[in-house]
Amino acid sequence: MYDITIIGAGIAGMTAAIYARRANKKVLVLEGKTYGGQIVETEKIENYPAAPGIAGPELAKKVYDQMMKFNPDFKYEKVLGISKNDDGFKITTDESEYSSKTVVIATGTNYKKAGLENEAELTGRGVSYCATCDGSLYRDKEIAVFGGGNSALYSVLYLSDLASKVTVIHRRNEFRGDDALVKKIKTKENVDYKLGKVVSELKSEDGKLSSIVLKNVKNGETEELKVAALFVEIGREPDNSIFKDLVELDEKGYIKADEDGKTSASGFFAAGDCRAKTLRQIVTASSDGAAAASSAIEYLNSK
Ligand SMILES: Cc1cc2nc3c(=O)[nH]c(=O)nc-3n(C[C@H](O)[C@H](O)[C@H](O)COP(=O)(O)OP(=O)(O)OC[C@H]3O[C@@H](n4cnc5c(N)ncnc54)[C@H](O)[C@@H]3O)c2cc1C
Repeated sequence: MYDITIIGAGIAGMTAAIYARRANKKVLVLEGKTYGGQIVETEKIENYPAAPGIAGPELAKKVYDQMMKFNPDFKYEKVLGISKNDDGFKITTDESEYSSKTVVIATGTNYKKAGLENEAELTGRGVSYCATCDGSLYRDKEIAVFGGGNSALYSVLYLSDLASKVTVIHRRNEFRGDDALVKKIKTKENVDYKLGKVVSELKSEDGKLSSIVLKNVKNGETEELKVAALFVEIGREPDNSIFKDLVELDEKGYIKADEDGKTSASGFFAAGDCRAKTLRQIVTASSDGAAAASSAIEYLNSK
């Protein structure tokens, strides 16, 4: 029986593990993919105190090493379900089952899909959600980015140094991202714009993306664009569906929690991007992890 099981080893989960182990609790950390979560996808982090300009994977490794010095049980297993019992919680993963007195959820968010018919089949075959992961596969090719917020614009900037041409498709006529970023992109000669348009269809040849169909949001007119890749950058969304019967979620599916990470279920805490909050950043995820672990420790000590 674990005292605290942490689900997700992004910055929130790893910080929670450091706090929980320093309080000498028996801690299990379960991670479904790779430690670090979203920060692994970030080329350069400029706003995390004491580490200006650090690369995401480097920060992830530093926090992982710091966490592992305190010896939590760390397992690469995806959590598939949780149920409440008299002693606490039963956690089912793709490999095993665990019992824990408390749980800290730190599952972050996933990329929002465009909702197109053959999107899933073409993912990894021309459709991507991560410019820094897959951009180099499309060196000197013509590609497109769908989205107009900061993540999309960072991707455009990154991809414009690799691809021969980047077409930005955005449903509005104005970008939502920072002005400085927009100005920087405007200096790039190989970036083209399709504004007031959305991607409405994906076409493939030999199982790979070959072109996309763009639809004008006002008049519905369509045009086809030949591209080797489409980077979908239309935001992120939580996947808290496996917790929905245990804990209250907001209308967008984020876990409702107070400042200390306490949720509607006793012994069940939430930290980082998976919880309802306004600022989803590394620094806030880390502080959420500390707060949620402290609440779990206080809960255990009060029993
Ligand atoms: C491209 C990009 C650039 C960014 N740049 C910055 C920046 O410069 N500065 C900044 O402050 N913030 C930045 N952010 C935001 C920041 O990275 C996030 O707010 C922060 O990393 C969130 O951390 P987290 O631990 O809450 O979640 P995540 O990093 O999303 O981690 C959640 C972890 O949980 C795991 N998980 C999910 N479900 C399960 C399950 N069922 N079982 C087991 N494991 C599971 C996931 O695999 C993942 O590893 C950026 C984000 C992106 C995508």
